[in-house]
Amino acid sequence: MHKSIIPEKRISDTSLTKEELQRYSRHLIMPEVTAEGQKRLKAARVLCIGAGGLGSPAALYLAAAGVGTLGLVDFDRVDLTNLQRQILHGTKDIGRSKLQSARDRLRDINPDIAIELHECRLSSENAQRIVADYDVIVDGSDNFATRYLSNDVCVFAGKPNVYGSVFRFEGQTTVFAPQLGGPCYRCLFPEPPPPESVPNCAQAGVLGVLPGIIGMLQAIEAIKLIVGIGEPLIGRLLHFDALKVTFRELKVRRDPECPVCGENPTIVAPIDYDQFCGAGKDESVPAISVQELKGKMDARDAFELIDVREPFEFEIARIDGAKLIPLGEISERADELHREQTFIIHCHSGVRSAQAVQLLKKRGFANVFNLEGGIDAWSEFIDPAVPKY
Ligand SMILES: [Zn+2]
Repeated sequence: MHKSIIPEKRISDTSLTKEELQRYSRHLIMPEVTAEGQKRLKAARVLCIGAGGLGSPAALYLAAAGVGTLGLVDFDRVDLTNLQRQILHGTKDIGRSKLQSARDRLRDINPDIAIELHECRLSSENAQRIVADYDVIVDGSDNFATRYLSNDVCVFAGKPNVYGSVFRFEGQTTVFAPQLGGPCYRCLFPEPPPPESVPNCAQAGVLGVLPGIIGMLQAIEAIKLIVGIGEPLIGRLLHFDALKVTFRELKVRRDPECPVCGENPTIVAPIDYDQFCGAGKDESVPAISVQELKGKMDARDAFELIDVREPFEFEIARIDGAKLIPLGEISERADELHREQTFIIHCHSGVRSAQAVQLLKKRGFANVFNLEGGIDAWSEFIDPAVPKY
């Protein structure tokens, strides 16, 4: 049995009310938990990064379990496409801030806990300040930029980072905690992969139940660290395959050469990797906004709109007048296009189309522009009749 990560002083200053003794009775009757363990939970401060697929089950169960203070970081609004897996939110919440929606739901589950909302995108500017106030971080982010940032600031602050990720029918989880002897995320993957090799957040898809399973495992790990019971997933990466129904455990080791937790760290301050998921701009890719595209259409400017998504995406939603050439076919079909023409390239959110722009520029096309935010932004700001997916 290992020790709780909650400072002793804070636990001894905490007491349980009569109502709390009743609410948590199924915890209290377990000799591994008892009122002492429940006090540790009440004294604990847990930060969930993201109130989405992983953050939903994690926050719901952490609130129900009596974690005294739950912090949530998110900047998004609830969208219809979220509801297939983000069970913190309901149909009535579409269009609302995810954090407001989450707070209402969590308060209903447990009015006794404190909920702290951080309505922002985690960034190099705010991450250390936010993380500093918590004992354990549950990372439910869905992109590499946030994942590397949350890993790094947790290493700097010496806080355990309960990692989870999902992809289609598979998910994985572990606890990164160099201060407790395990590796950090960068011990496994020192640098983020190049953006073009990463499937876009929205384009890979995920079975809705899967983040439920992984997010709940993350909640269990956070609770174990707080109560001080069991064997935490430190140094072990648990992989779950929903189609095969297998759990595989991989040993993961700390790397003494790790750029952030190693003996001679080269990363000593938070970094923003905002080129992922269309969040940032690549200067080498000329771009136009959806508003500018609309202006060009209205003015009947001469240009061709090329859609580089896959045919099944074209079936779901399209911008009128766009010609479909999936990204994988752009190189071989470039001869179909006249080099002297102006081309505006779009995809779902702007990542694949940026690659297409670079490919065409290399092939001598002078006037190619990336549509920022893709068809997603078109639907959001110009034509709501185009379905979002
Ligand atoms: Zn490391």
